[in-house]
Amino acid sequence: MLKLYNTLNRQVEELEPLQPGTFTMYTCGPTVYRDVHIGNLRSFLMADWIRRALEALGNNVVHVKNITDVGHMRQEMLEQGEDKVIAAALAEGKTPQQIAEFYTDAFMADEAKLGIKPAHFFPRATHHIQEMIAMIERLLHKGYAYEAGGNIYFDVTRFPGYGKLSGNVFEGLLEGVRVEADPAKRNQWDFTLWKSTEPGRVLKWPSPWGEGFPGWHIECSAMSTKYLGEQLDIHTGGVDNIFPHHEGEIAQSEGAFDKPFVRHWVHGQHLLADGLKMAKSEGNAYTIRDLEDRGFDPLSLRYLFLTVHYRNRLNFTFSALRAAQTALRRLRSRLELWQREDTGRRDEEAERQCMERFWDVVGQDLNLPNALTVLWDMASSTVPPSSKLRLVMDMDQVLGLDLVGALQRSRFVPEPVVALASTREDFRQKRDYAEADALRGEIANASFSVRDTTHGPWIRVSEPHDKLVGFISSPRDVHSYLDRGDAYEFSVNILARDPLQDVKRCVESVLKWRGGHTVEVIVVDNACEAETRMWLNEICEQEPSVRVLHVDHPLGEGAGRNVALKLSLGSYIIALDPSVEVEGDVFTHLRQMLRENSVGLIGRWGVCTQDIRQFVESPGPQVDAVESYCMAFRRALLKELGLMNEKYRFYRNLDLEFSFLFKDKGYQVRAIPELPLTRHEHRVWESLSPQERERLSLKNFRVFLHRWGHRTDLLAANAGGRPDH
Ligand SMILES: [Zn+2]
Repeated sequence: MLKLYNTLNRQVEELEPLQPGTFTMYTCGPTVYRDVHIGNLRSFLMADWIRRALEALGNNVVHVKNITDVGHMRQEMLEQGEDKVIAAALAEGKTPQQIAEFYTDAFMADEAKLGIKPAHFFPRATHHIQEMIAMIERLLHKGYAYEAGGNIYFDVTRFPGYGKLSGNVFEGLLEGVRVEADPAKRNQWDFTLWKSTEPGRVLKWPSPWGEGFPGWHIECSAMSTKYLGEQLDIHTGGVDNIFPHHEGEIAQSEGAFDKPFVRHWVHGQHLLADGLKMAKSEGNAYTIRDLEDRGFDPLSLRYLFLTVHYRNRLNFTFSALRAAQTALRRLRSRLELWQREDTGRRDEEAERQCMERFWDVVGQDLNLPNALTVLWDMASSTVPPSSKLRLVMDMDQVLGLDLVGALQRSRFVPEPVVALASTREDFRQKRDYAEADALRGEIANASFSVRDTTHGPWIRVSEPHDKLVGFISSPRDVHSYLDRGDAYEFSVNILARDPLQDVKRCVESVLKWRGGHTVEVIVVDNACEAETRMWLNEICEQEPSVRVLHVDHPLGEGAGRNVALKLSLGSYIIALDPSVEVEGDVFTHLRQMLRENSVGLIGRWGVCTQDIRQFVESPGPQVDAVESYCMAFRRALLKELGLMNEKYRFYRNLDLEFSFLFKDKGYQVRAIPELPLTRHEHRVWESLSPQERERLSLKNFRVFLHRWGHRTDLLAANAGGRPDH
């Protein structure tokens, strides 16, 4: 069941068709002498969502959208320079028909890019002049219209229902009528049905009243009647169509046929840009091409429009669009993840409940922002991946984000690419990384990327707009590998931050010194600048052992480090700060020491304390905590200790807390000054004012003290009787 606000009676009411099972729907379409702007497209999207919802509910919808290719070609307007596009086209020797065809095609292409289902009929006004003339004759015959000065006018005083849609009464109407006074009219609020041609006009047709052209309102009454009948179930448009256009349509159609014209009027609110209504005259009318030129996927505009209810104004900004694009990409990568994790197991009861919630909100005046909430709740729920896939596909019948298409594109891998990936995997198994890398390059040339996973190679279509694999927003967005067996000797974890030079130095030094060890490098791009992000993508393409995860907004230190921890598959984890540079074989050294079961955590720099209040740097080897520059431990211990505490947004003192976890379970914490590591300037610390350092450190320290402040029993100073050197 779908309920919508009806402009006619100002109530949210259930849609019911005249003919059971089939809805007739008319949408006032574009004027095709220029590109439509995204404000126009918002109202076409609203109509698309209504149609999709009705169809998803099992109804048939017959949809008509007219193409206004007449009525804006008055020669004197051109001479006043009011329509430069037409003027320029005419100057190039193009006919009005050619101009109209060009912009009609452009409009269809824009609709397709937004995933708007094409209407079943796109009647052109210029192809329906005879139908308009016939309707005007009927109105003349019934006394609703009169001829004056070669023009035909609708006499609004003869139609008692005039004003019922807009609420305008005659006193108010004059203000609404913006045309200059026409001495031929009986009443100034009468509107034109047919206008005699002025000298120099290009588009004109013969009629019983001489050469001329139709008024705007009559085209919609005549064409809706021809394709959908004298009565319509649904008529859509923007709020600025309500008066005078739709009021005029009602007067014409009801005057001609003596039946209620439209059962349900639906109007979409304005799109604003910079707080102003989007309009060509304001210079803020963006087109789809403007968005594409800035690197946006048009479907992210569709996503953005989903986030605001159609009866509310929406203020368009590029940063909002960027956020929408990020969300859409996240959704697509979730789908791919579910597909990979799909075991065929479903929870049909959960599916039923979820779709019930979805339809509860969609059915209530098309509340699509809430529908998105239902979708994202479902995405992060514990429903099996197979059910999630099914649910999101069902919801997308209404939302129209082309998620099926995106998934199919991600799934379709041509045979030659599969062969390349499999050959590459053979080389990789033989540790012939040079050959494997060369093949990765060939796969990239075919617009695919390959990632090495514990299930074998994962081949994906490269993103058309950039090479990002997809963003995550929190550690919850990644699958935990903690329960899986070791696949590498070492996992090096790096939580990347700008500038690029630090991350680059750190990653390259790890790769340089890994020697014969199997090392995976997991870099979490914590919302870095484009320069850093692009470099990470490059190194990730070149180096099979480097994995990069992009985060869409900066995560706190604890959360960011947990992303990498969850994905690590090495026997040993080395968490490095980007300010650290490897300057020798740390791996052999660490492996040897971490094999000792009594040892929990090893670092290069350590601190000791007497009172858990003051911590001073200590050469070790026994220390109370190792500093976060370098922390190495056996991955298996995470299952016993748990992940890092995400309350630590700032990095300071998270290392104290993490070290105390090890001590609490009886493991030693050691600092080894011989480890060949150098630390460079810590940019976060250096960038802060003394007050900020104090404030942020203190905040974290309070979290630490709250939990560990009384545990002097854990201190190295009290660890007597355990000589270890
Ligand atoms: Zn219309």
